[in-house]
Amino acid sequence: MNASMSYLDGNAAAGELSRIFATDVTSAEGQCANCGAKGRFAETHLYMQCPGLVARCALCEHVLLRLVNVRRRVYLDLSGMTYLAFGMDE
Ligand SMILES: [Zn+2]
Repeated sequence: MNASMSYLDGNAAAGELSRIFATDVTSAEGQCANCGAKGRFAETHLYMQCPGLVARCALCEHVLLRLVNVRRRVYLDLSGMTYLAFGMDE
């Protein structure tokens, strides 16, 4: 990974993710499939200098989420996370 690449925090993905999720993903808690770190999605390192979004673990930089728009489809890869847990309002 190029250390000079800049990233935003995961909050920057809120608008794009709201197109496919009815709830706020940035407040969900996830676990990195590589190092086991747990945290809010908002704490991830978000890279937007690519055709889509890439969220990486703040501890080990493992890819947690990839979201790419291709024509009229959105491809979402969450395989870098063990889980993503949402708090649901009653
Ligand atoms: Zn990690």
